[in-house]
Amino acid sequence: MTIVSLKRASFSAFPALLALVLTVPLISGAGKPVPATPVPVETHMASIPQSTVDRVVQNLVAQWGSTDQERIRRGVTQVSLLWRASDGSEADFASFCEKEYLGDPKLRSATMDRFEANGEVTSGAAVALVRKYREPVDLDLSEPLPLDELYAAFNPFDHYLEDTFRTRIAFVGLLNFRLYKLSELVGLGPKLDRNAWAEARLAGSFELRISGEARAAETAAVARGDDYVSSYNIYLGNVLSSGGQRLFPEDLKLISHWGLRDEIKSLYADPVGNLEKQRLILQVMEKIVRQEIPASVVNEAGVLWEPATGKVSAKGQGSAPKADREPDVRYARILEIFRAERQVDVEAPLFPTYMDRKFDIEREIPKDTVSALLVDVLQAPAARGVAALIRRRLGRPLEPFDVWYDGFKARGAFKPEDLDRAVAARYPTVAAFQADVPAILGKLGFSPATATFLAQHIVVDPARGAGHAMGAGARYDSAHLRTRVGPKGMDYKGYNIALHELGHNVEQVFTLNKVDRTLLSGVPNNAFTEAFAFLFQARDLEVLGLETNDPKAKKEAVALRALDDYWSAFEIAGVALLDIATWEWLYAHPEATPAELREAVVQKAIEIWNRYYAPVLGVKDTPLLAIYSHMVAYPLYLPDYPIGHLIDFQIEQYIQGRSLATEMERMCVQGKITPDAWMRGAVGAPLSAAPINAAAADALKTVRR
Ligand SMILES: [Zn+2]
Repeated sequence: MTIVSLKRASFSAFPALLALVLTVPLISGAGKPVPATPVPVETHMASIPQSTVDRVVQNLVAQWGSTDQERIRRGVTQVSLLWRASDGSEADFASFCEKEYLGDPKLRSATMDRFEANGEVTSGAAVALVRKYREPVDLDLSEPLPLDELYAAFNPFDHYLEDTFRTRIAFVGLLNFRLYKLSELVGLGPKLDRNAWAEARLAGSFELRISGEARAAETAAVARGDDYVSSYNIYLGNVLSSGGQRLFPEDLKLISHWGLRDEIKSLYADPVGNLEKQRLILQVMEKIVRQEIPASVVNEAGVLWEPATGKVSAKGQGSAPKADREPDVRYARILEIFRAERQVDVEAPLFPTYMDRKFDIEREIPKDTVSALLVDVLQAPAARGVAALIRRRLGRPLEPFDVWYDGFKARGAFKPEDLDRAVAARYPTVAAFQADVPAILGKLGFSPATATFLAQHIVVDPARGAGHAMGAGARYDSAHLRTRVGPKGMDYKGYNIALHELGHNVEQVFTLNKVDRTLLSGVPNNAFTEAFAFLFQARDLEVLGLETNDPKAKKEAVALRALDDYWSAFEIAGVALLDIATWEWLYAHPEATPAELREAVVQKAIEIWNRYYAPVLGVKDTPLLAIYSHMVAYPLYLPDYPIGHLIDFQIEQYIQGRSLATEMERMCVQGKITPDAWMRGAVGAPLSAAPINAAAADALKTVRR
């Protein structure tokens, strides 16, 4: 619903810039990255011996006194870890530290302010520049020129971070401001004052110094994984049942896993009539995971395949295709990403594994905390109740693919044509929507003054795609809402998405313009902004004045949504646990072959299934959880989905019965602190699965069949 990379551009001043600089999807669309040759990593490693660090610390303590000792040692050590031979000799290092250490608190505080101000103008310029370059491809104004594709892929700030090291700006930050480990931030969270948070964000913006070569190798490995999964199509019309029957339309081609999974979901429209089809898709998925699928049927329109027997044959007149299995390509791709990350590891002394970087830097929730939250969802007593309800509704014992049961949907009270007509009459043009933003915000409960303030900082543009939100990088700029309005005016779907994007924009304006320090602008991670976007989106009919007034229907809709949310979280929680277990296994077996990795993943998938799913669904031993393509192309991204469900639910539940407008502003101005600290401040409790589990249990009392 939003372009994630663009959204990330609104994060706090310095990190905003880094997000821009490091965000690959923003610049996708250009040619494929060229695989880089491995670099001799030793050249990037720290070059300052401990004895030199000790001597510099001694000299600085002699100058500034022993009360500064801890601060001095920390700062000099921070610089030494990222100082490389190309930055200068040991003598250069020593004189840099002795000259740039700020022993005077006033000077240190003024320096922090300068970093903050310069960070804001830099991210403001970077966001505005990239936005302008991309306008011809993002906006529905006129046909883009061939040149526009090149500009859309061009980011002049790509080398910004390395340049801050080369100019030693980054080293001044590292010498004088404290880097916090995630465990320290989590432990100290409630005790940290705003200045300490700002200091943590300032120093944190320099905590990684990864060379262009290592980043390029990482990008290339991820791109190969992405290529692999994005052309992994199955011609379901050519997949035959055990009796050799065709069950699907002849031309049905679906991508694994998204298309296959969504097909299973849509088949619940006729659960009895479609059961055999769902079973066949399950079989295909298990063969993909185990790499027992014949290589000749992947992305190939001319081959018939009978998964039950493994038999393949030519569809037309052609020669008989080979039945050889796909030779563990899926797992070879994962290993390539792992090997690229090992190169990054060497350059990241403070975050020496990919797991550290994903959990401690990006997500800022410790890995063990994430795992514990996932297990809380999986072990909720409500799971068995929801499964029993699904069993009653389907009238049969559950099968593995029922983790994708899709029947908890409330029926809308309005016909789609009527909704389209109401929306088009109200918003014939983009300008009409722009003009109505203050009124929309008013209906959501914002005061006239706040609604006006927000509307003044949101520019509505015509989108070429479905729509997205793009925050500003500096307070003098505006957030942008991109929405699609056809020649006949906006339709209901476009409006529904526009409200989602407006939720992002309002968050973006609050967290940049109303936060006390721009070093702290933004939200802890993507899940938080999505939660606000969904809050807006869910109120779309209310804003149109078309909400149903039947309390019973309302109650049932809320209960169905709780069941749907819980069952989605239950399904994806195990998938996320498997993703984590896979990377733990990789670091324990760095020399693994693709075949060994396949065995390990299949075994772990079955273990997780048997522990958490078998007792609930009543069926054992499937490796189905390993089907997600994210594992091959976007490793360790999957935990964001279930954690997002939890965050969404916690915020939503807290806001029920309170003012969305007041609570949202209060939560947003906390800025980019850790997810845990943010949630405690927002709802008075840490991140937790309890609300979603409780809501599911409660919903079971309302929805009985
Ligand atoms: Zn979104």
